[in-house]
Amino acid sequence: MAAGAHRRLCVSRLAGPVTGKLTLNPWLVKAPRDCIDYVILHELCHLKEHNHSPRFFKLLDRHMPAWRQRKARLDELAEIILNA
Ligand SMILES: [Zn+2]
Repeated sequence: MAAGAHRRLCVSRLAGPVTGKLTLNPWLVKAPRDCIDYVILHELCHLKEHNHSPRFFKLLDRHMPAWRQRKARLDELAEIILNA
């Protein structure tokens, strides 16, 4: 994944397994529900895999086979929302 794409995507952040808090960037509330679900799953997968290794994407594939479409939509929306 390109660095720019990941920067846009990682608008969410896990505070860590100690607190179990997941912080979502406020602009995400404007995104469709399936895109938000994808971001949450992305962050949850980072609990197990801390980088974007092939194992990370395998994990995403297992839990959300259509994640690529959701991510593509989110990337498009990010451009529109963040540049508004
Ligand atoms: Zn990530």
